[in-house]
Amino acid sequence: MQIIQPHYHAIARTAQDYERMAMSGVVAVCEPAFWAGFDRKYPETFIDYFRQIGEFEPTRAADYGIRHFFWVAVNPKEAENPELSREVLKKFPDFFEMPNCLGVGETGLHKSTANEAMIFEEQVSLAVEHDQLILIHTPHLEDKTHGTRRILEILEGLPVDRNRVWIDHAEEHTIRPILDAGYWSGFTLYPITKCSPKRAVDMLELYGRERILVNSSADWGPSDPFTLQECVCEYRRRGNSLQDAMEIFYNNPVRFLGQNPKFDLPLLKVEEMREEAEAPAEQPAEEPADRA
Ligand SMILES: [Zn+2]
Repeated sequence: MQIIQPHYHAIARTAQDYERMAMSGVVAVCEPAFWAGFDRKYPETFIDYFRQIGEFEPTRAADYGIRHFFWVAVNPKEAENPELSREVLKKFPDFFEMPNCLGVGETGLHKSTANEAMIFEEQVSLAVEHDQLILIHTPHLEDKTHGTRRILEILEGLPVDRNRVWIDHAEEHTIRPILDAGYWSGFTLYPITKCSPKRAVDMLELYGRERILVNSSADWGPSDPFTLQECVCEYRRRGNSLQDAMEIFYNNPVRFLGQNPKFDLPLLKVEEMREEAEAPAEQPAEEPADRA
């Protein structure tokens, strides 16, 4: 089965991860810009980081036949430094020109401070101005509900096309307001913290598959790219069809990301496959020749 990994921090992972992902059917990964584990001091450090995920990572992925796309953003933690953030934002349009850049992400909130909110708003506005897709990080569990609500409030005041905005790291208590407001919602799977593959399937059963993107982030902390495949297996184990799995784990990312024409992977014709799979097998016209 072909799988798209829509949120993946390849910079933190090994070539062996790429190889194992390719062997498990992953055909494309998308790498948002995120926090490096420490606060960067210089705008140039961000620019070099964007070049690494925009220019170098695609070559590593290509070695395993995987397409690689990326996003640019100042993450919420470093948005605490507005002066630095604005210097970096000035360079975004250069990256928007690149053939594999999908938009602005992951921007969002971490502790929902005034500076974070201000730089988040500026990044969303820049994305809108340049007709880019938007990927939004919601805070960790302590502040998830409040932070998600703040994000929705801020977006409310901006001229965004909601179908072009993906609000990620949703959990049981935040998915509903995201979907109800018309945005795409993401589940980020982790082996220990955050959403597990089983809980993600519970949510798929409760809310359906429309406007849902499942990913495993896989960053430099305790994480595992293959929680995504675990989720596919759990979904199938509960009796869902292969075709329904393809809709969620391949076609949904194509539907969202393909709104940027640079993401040019084709939609799979799942309904045709379903009809074929369900059609009764044809009987051979005559008895096979005796091989004896
Ligand atoms: Zn991330």
